[in-house]
Amino acid sequence: MPDSPPDIPREYTPQAETEGPLLRVCNLTKHFELREPGLFGRVTGTVQAVTDVSFEIHRGETFAIVGESGCGKSTLAKTIATIYPADFGEVWFSGNRLADISTGDLKSTRRRVQMIFQDPFGSLNPRMTAAEIIAEPLVIHAMGDKVEQRQRTREVAEAVGLDTGDLNRYPHQFSGGQRQRIAIARAIAPKPKLVIADEPLSALDVSIQSQILNLMVALQHRENLTYFFISHDLAAVRHVAGRVAVMYLGRIVEMADTEALFADARHPYTQALIAALPEIGHGKKRRAAAPAGDVPSPLAPPPGCPFHPRCPKAQDLCRVERPELATVKKARKGHLAACHFSDPEKPQE
Ligand code: SF4
Repeated sequence: MPDSPPDIPREYTPQAETEGPLLRVCNLTKHFELREPGLFGRVTGTVQAVTDVSFEIHRGETFAIVGESGCGKSTLAKTIATIYPADFGEVWFSGNRLADISTGDLKSTRRRVQMIFQDPFGSLNPRMTAAEIIAEPLVIHAMGDKVEQRQRTREVAEAVGLDTGDLNRYPHQFSGGQRQRIAIARAIAPKPKLVIADEPLSALDVSIQSQILNLMVALQHRENLTYFFISHDLAAVRHVAGRVAVMYLGRIVEMADTEALFADARHPYTQALIAALPEIGHGKKRRAAAPAGDVPSPLAPPPGCPFHPRCPKAQDLCRVERPELATVKKARKGHLAACHFSDPEKPQE
């Protein structure tokens, strides 16, 4: 957690629409109960998917969450997008607390927050043509008449590099990269403010990944978008994001400007992720070994620092006391880490 809690605006003011962060996430928590089969099955455990996550995303920036598979980043995205209800915490979008928004206004908010999913094939309706898929949010949100909807569909199809002559084809008639272009076109068609991209590259061939990444960067400028980019791939995150949060077992363990994170990572988990990147590790002195061992189960996170069973720097203190996410010393403004020994000058036991 930061040194002080986020400054939560209790009252909505019109200025808040254009001032302040576009998205503010405060202490968001989402756990899932596991039950025995049957209507009244006993609770057998709790998956602590997301715990006490706070951050802000500013207009026009790309903010990324990075972490290994199962760290809770996709649950976080779906809780922010109101696909899952939060157990605790608040999400503010453009100055409005989502919990206070009426059902009618929530529809308008959903138009302004669009998602791009990991699996473009699974997220596209196989019985709809590419044109119908791209136009669907325009129809749902009653944006323009049929002529205007067709015009916007062609416009965004061209913007994402699709051949408009192919728009009457079905998803299975496109390649994986083209399907992701359709998914991106659908996301930007209703002119959203925030695009949540949940592992948008991981189902694509390596050769296609950089094309999609470059496309997203170009569209950000053209469509005036803010991105919340979720990925396990630190190299991709480095290419697109201005700020990065590193997630481990449902919690943010480090957050900083991308440049600061790569130059001066303070959490051993972040250091290990960076050291494992081939283009950084190759030919240069590695700062730490790649994370050893498996991620512990979110059903039973370790006591103390959740990273301690895998941490090469773990001390006795780490096994009993969980470090808070706090400002790190002698670092750039906004650099936070959850490690008892994030200060390089603090002697270890
Ligand atoms: Fe490693 Fe201890 Fe820091 Fe956790 S608190 S990351 S175990 S040094």
